[in-house]
Amino acid sequence: MLVKVFKQLKLIFSDFPKKHFYCLVGGILFLLLIIGLSRVELQNSSQKKELSSEIAIEDLVPRIQDADDKTSFNQKKIAEVKRNDSLFSILKRLGVKDDSIYDLIYSPNSELLTQIKIGKTIEVEINELNEVENLKYIEDFRSGVIAKKVKSFECTENAESKVVSGKRKCIYLVEKYKLQTEKLKVFKKVTITNSLYVDGLREGLPDSVIMDLVYIFGWDIDFVHDIRPGDSYSLIYEEIYVDGERKINGNILIAEFINRNRTHTAIRFTLPNGSSEYFSPKGRNVKKAFLRSPVKFSYISSKYNLKRRHPILHKIRAHTGVDYAASRGTPIRATGDGTIVYAEKKGGYGNLIEIKHTEDYSTRYAHLDKFHSGIKLGKKVKQSDIIGYVGRTGTATGDHLHYEFRVNGKHTDPLTVKFPNANPINELEKNKFLENSEKIIKDLKNYQSLSF
Ligand SMILES: [Zn+2]
Repeated sequence: MLVKVFKQLKLIFSDFPKKHFYCLVGGILFLLLIIGLSRVELQNSSQKKELSSEIAIEDLVPRIQDADDKTSFNQKKIAEVKRNDSLFSILKRLGVKDDSIYDLIYSPNSELLTQIKIGKTIEVEINELNEVENLKYIEDFRSGVIAKKVKSFECTENAESKVVSGKRKCIYLVEKYKLQTEKLKVFKKVTITNSLYVDGLREGLPDSVIMDLVYIFGWDIDFVHDIRPGDSYSLIYEEIYVDGERKINGNILIAEFINRNRTHTAIRFTLPNGSSEYFSPKGRNVKKAFLRSPVKFSYISSKYNLKRRHPILHKIRAHTGVDYAASRGTPIRATGDGTIVYAEKKGGYGNLIEIKHTEDYSTRYAHLDKFHSGIKLGKKVKQSDIIGYVGRTGTATGDHLHYEFRVNGKHTDPLTVKFPNANPINELEKNKFLENSEKIIKDLKNYQSLSF
């Protein structure tokens, strides 16, 4: 076959200068050879797997390092903390010998390594005797616990006092570490020509920051229907650096959204209880006191209708709530903060939960398959907490959530009612907030004026 190709090519390119011609043919043959080889490789992929597992990278690394370094037999291994893991089980899995694990466990401060969490990472350097040379438990991007083998480490009096049954040795120095972090403020201004998201990405906004923005303004702006080309937003957010390297996109400090000539501003403020929320420059909470829908990923199968013919009872009976069709077991969220005032069976409602939010507002969730654990009379819940699961208990033809919204004891259509805002800035905090917001608004204005 190759000869044939060769002849054909010779015919086609017979006009070419000879040198060029041979280069070209040589090149083509080389390509064919590569394609042929890669086919063979693909066919033998199972063999290939076997081969590569025989020469594991870990085996190669020490040999390569050996050339220029005496401590080269050390291997660096990384493990993720899994369910039911302990320091012992992880080190055992990585091939560390028992003696070395005990040396570590009996070293002072080793209790810092007993609270390792699922999903976190442990990096271990293991020497040629399968002993831990050093170990790093990475709690987050800036902190964790480090253990180092120390040759002539003297136990301090303090450490000695923690000796357990005389086995404690001072082989490893175990301590917490914290890396230096630096926060940088970043300003961006985005004019929407396409969509909030696409235009944001184009201006270099990180995905997570755009998501935060959608969450902050999602209470006031319908991002599917309300956005128009020419709308714009600007914001200041933080980036967190460790050793000069960007590690995390921090929080949005202030954001301004101009939607059809209406300006919405949200300013981040940390409350005395440590939680942070967003407020308007005057201290109004940007959040509403209620979520529009208690179930995600559902569709409305029956609206609020005071003249509906009931599907089971076959007579006119007002439908005083909204039905959300969702598969059995779909989590149901409390639409607002409040107290559970009912959580048991109630006739046609089946399993029913009622939440009292304020003197004026209450919500009901019916036909639940079951209640979420811990949900009982008197329990306080926060907005978005899971309270139960969709089912079809009581008078129901299929799996759905029947949701009612009451204002002053009267049924109200939850799809059209105007929700009150969540709690504004507390009077005690007001001055501090205003001072802070004045400063950050000034910053935003400065950046905006510079960006043109
Ligand atoms: Zn219903």
